[in-house]
Amino acid sequence: MTSDYTMPMEFCPQCKSMMMPKDGMMVCRKCGHKMPKTAGGESMVSKTKQLNRVVPVLEQESAGLPTTSARCPKCGHNVAYWWLRQLRSADESEVRFFRCTKCNETWREYD
Ligand SMILES: [Zn+2]
Ligand SMILES: [Zn+2]
Repeated sequence: MTSDYTMPMEFCPQCKSMMMPKDGMMVCRKCGHKMPKTAGGESMVSKTKQLNRVVPVLEQESAGLPTTSARCPKCGHNVAYWWLRQLRSADESEVRFFRCTKCNETWREYD
């Protein structure tokens, strides 16, 4: 019989035998020496059990973006998020970008 339950061992200060918990005390099986149980004794309930849910960070926020009907070049889905992006050079106009709501394919609108 194997057990992964580990209990802090207590040894009798008089005869060095292992002590057993009994009636809320630690009692030496050999000489009968009694001493109070150490804190935490047999109920070592882990209070550090916490669920660490890691929320994946999206490369770009899709939530809140408007959708439009645009055909995805990848999967053929016809609903996509869209946004405008001003290009650096002044003589270029705003470019419309699309992102497929189904497969997240992102593309820009070509004239
Ligand atoms: Zn003892
Ligand atoms: Zn798609």
